[in-house]
Amino acid sequence: MTPFDSPGQSQRIDILVVDDEPITRTLIKAHLEKAGYGVIEATDGETGLAQYDQHTPTLILLDVMMPVMNGYDTCVELRKRISDQSLPILMLTGLNEMNAIERAFQSGATDFITKPLNWPILTQRIRYALRDRRQFLELQEKQHLLSEAQRIAKMGYLYIDVSNWQITLSAEVAEIIGIPHHNEIDLNQLQTLLTEPDCQRLLQNINQAIRNNGQYLLDHKLRLPNGQEKVILQRGEMRQEHGRRVIYATLQDITEQAKAEERLLYHSYYDVLTSLPNRKLFESNIMEQIDKQTACAVMFIGIDRFKAINDSLGHRNGDKVLKEIANRITPYQQQGYRVARFSGDTFAILLPNTDTNQHQADDLAQEILSLMEVPLEAQGHELVLHGSIGIALYPREADTLDKLLLGADIAMNLAKGNGGNQYRYFSTTMDTDAQQRLALEEDLRKALRNGEFELYYQPQYNARSRKIVGVEALIRWHHPTQGMIPPALFIPLAEETGLVTQLGEWVLYTAAQQGVHWHKAGHAIRLGVNLSAKQLALSHFQDLVQDVLRHTKISPALLELEITESMAVSDFDNTIQTLDQIRSLDVKISMDDFGTGYSSLSYLQQLPLNTLKIDRAFIKDITADGRNGEIAKAIIAMSKSLNLHIIAEGIETAGQYDYLRHHGADEIQGFYFSKPLPVSAFNKLLR
Ligand code: C2E
Ligand code: MG
Ligand code: MG
Repeated sequence: MTPFDSPGQSQRIDILVVDDEPITRTLIKAHLEKAGYGVIEATDGETGLAQYDQHTPTLILLDVMMPVMNGYDTCVELRKRISDQSLPILMLTGLNEMNAIERAFQSGATDFITKPLNWPILTQRIRYALRDRRQFLELQEKQHLLSEAQRIAKMGYLYIDVSNWQITLSAEVAEIIGIPHHNEIDLNQLQTLLTEPDCQRLLQNINQAIRNNGQYLLDHKLRLPNGQEKVILQRGEMRQEHGRRVIYATLQDITEQAKAEERLLYHSYYDVLTSLPNRKLFESNIMEQIDKQTACAVMFIGIDRFKAINDSLGHRNGDKVLKEIANRITPYQQQGYRVARFSGDTFAILLPNTDTNQHQADDLAQEILSLMEVPLEAQGHELVLHGSIGIALYPREADTLDKLLLGADIAMNLAKGNGGNQYRYFSTTMDTDAQQRLALEEDLRKALRNGEFELYYQPQYNARSRKIVGVEALIRWHHPTQGMIPPALFIPLAEETGLVTQLGEWVLYTAAQQGVHWHKAGHAIRLGVNLSAKQLALSHFQDLVQDVLRHTKISPALLELEITESMAVSDFDNTIQTLDQIRSLDVKISMDDFGTGYSSLSYLQQLPLNTLKIDRAFIKDITADGRNGEIAKAIIAMSKSLNLHIIAEGIETAGQYDYLRHHGADEIQGFYFSKPLPVSAFNKLLR
C-alpha cells in the first residue's frame, strides 16, 4: 500500500463527504476514519464547494439527491472550478438507477457507488480511485519530465501512418520544424521543408525500414517556413501498432552541435591567423594525389629573414606580414592549386594533376617571388620581403608524403642558404647534403667544448710606412675528421643555430687577451674583431664588451669591432644606439665588406663609424697595371668626405697596392703582405 491508496503515517488523506443526510455522513465518517482517512463534511452542494476551497481534499464523495443544488450540478460546478482534473469524485446514487449513473458520468464523476452503502465496497472503491489518481499523476509527471527533457534536448517524435502517409507530430516536433500548434501534416508538407537530396535520402531510409521492419538513423537539413535552416538528427523505426503499420521517429534539433562541430573541424583544418588550410589539410590534399598516383608538385615558400623581422618589429607586425603574404597567395586557390600555411613562416602550395608541372611550377615560383617583393607597410616602415621556394615533384623526385615534404623543405632551405629570393627543385642528391649539414650542426655544438677553434691573425699595414698598425682576428675550426673548415662554411650555420653568440664571446675574449700580450710586448697594434648580427642584436651586448675590457684590461682604443652593412640596417635604430654605447667606451667601429650591401651614403652618415673596409670584390678587378679601380676610387673619396679611416682588404698584387695607396687608402690588408696566421707565426712576423 502507498500513501495514495490509504493514509500513510506522514500524510493524511482527506475526503470530503457531501451529503444532506446527517446519519449517512456520520456513518461514512466513522468508517473512513477507522480506515485511516480524514473526513470533512458538507451538508449541501454549496457548502461542499466552500469546503473544497478551504481544505482541498484528495477525494470527494458526493450524494446525488440533495436539496437546493443537487449532486450533478455540484459535480459540474466542482469540475469547472478545480484545475486538478484527476481529483476523484465518487457519486452516491440510488440502486440500479441507470439514468442516474449515466448522468453522474456526464457531470464529470469519476465513479459511482450505489446506496445503501456497503462499507467494505466503499473503502475498496475509494482505494481504487485513489490508486488510479496516483497512477495518473505519475504518468502526468513522467510525461512532463519527458517533454521537458525533449524540450531541453530539442527533441520530439512523430508517427507516420504508412497506409496514408499522414504524419502526427508531437508538440516539440511542431515547434522544431517551425509550425507550432500543428499536430498533423502530410508527406508533401514535410517534403517542402527538405532539400531535394535530403528528401531522397529520408524517403529511401523510411522505405527500407518499412521493407525490413527495420530502423534508420540520418541527419538532414530543414529549411523552415521562416527561412531559418536547421540540422536534424532523425532516428526512425518501423512498428506494428494495433494492426497499423507506422514509422515512429524521434527528431532532434542538432543545429548548435553541428555548428560547434563545424567550428571544431574548421579549427583542426584551418589556420586561425591566415584562414588558410593548415598542415593537416594540406597533407591530406597531397595524399589524395598520391592515392590517385597523379603527378603533382609540392612547393614550400619561406619568408627570408622572417625571424629578424619578428624580433625587431614585434610579433604583431610579424603576424601582419604573414597575413599579407597569405592574402597574396590565397587567390591561387581559384586556379585549382591548394594553398596552405604549413608552419610558422612557411606557406605551401600543391600543384595537382599536372604532367607538365615543372613549367607550371617554374612560372608559379617566379610569380610568387615577385609577389613577395611588393613592399608592405609595418610600423611606419616600408618593408620589402623576399622569399625562398623549394619544390618537390611527385613521383619523380619523391614518391611518398614524407619524402615530398622533406624534399620541399630541404630545397627551400637550400634556396635560403644560398641567399634567398630564389627557388630550387629538390633532387635526391640534396638529401645527403642536408644530412651532412645536420651532422655538421651537431659537431659545431661540440666544437666549442672541445676547444676545436683557433684564432688566426692577419696584419694590416700602413699604406705609406708599410708598418703593421693593426690586425684582424679570423676564426678557424679544426674539425676532428674534416680538417680545417673555413668560417664561410660554419659561421652561417652558427648564426642559424644561435651558437654564434657563444662563439663570438669566445672570439672577443681570446682576441682581446692576445692584443694585451702584444701590447705588453711593446706592439700597440689595433685589434679587429668580427661581429655577427646576432651578437649586435643582444640586448646586453655593450655589457659584454665592457666585461671584456675589464677582464682583459685591453686598452679600448686598440679594440675595433667590425660590423657589416646588412647587420646595421636590419634594425637600424637599435644598431645606432648600441654602437653609440660601444663608442662611448672608446672602442672603435669599422664597416666591413663595404660595397657589397646597401652601400648607402645616408646610412654611413648616420652610423658612428671610425673605419671603412673596402671589400675585396672591388680590389680584385684592379689589374696588375693599376686599372679598373674606379669603384674603389669612388668609395675612398666618399669615405674621406665622411672622415673615415680606410682599409683596403684583399690586396694580392703590387699593382693593387700601388693603386690604392695612390688613391688614398690608409691601410692595406691582404695576401700580398700576409695571409692570416696562427699566433706563433704572427709573433715571428712582428719580430
Ligand atoms: P672578413 O671579415 O671580410 O675577413 C676577410 C676575409 O678575407 C678572410 O677570410 C681573409 O682570410 C680573407 N682575405 C684576406 N686577404 C685576402 C686576399 O688577399 N685574398 C683573398 N682571396 N682573401 C683574403 P676568412 O678568414 O675565410 O673569413 C671569412 C669571413 O668569415 C670574414 O670575412 C668574416 O666575415 C667571417 N669571420 C671570420 N672570423 C670571424 C669571427 O670570429 N666572427 C664572425 N662573426 N665572423 C668571422
Ligand atoms: Mg672582417
Ligand atoms: Mg671583409
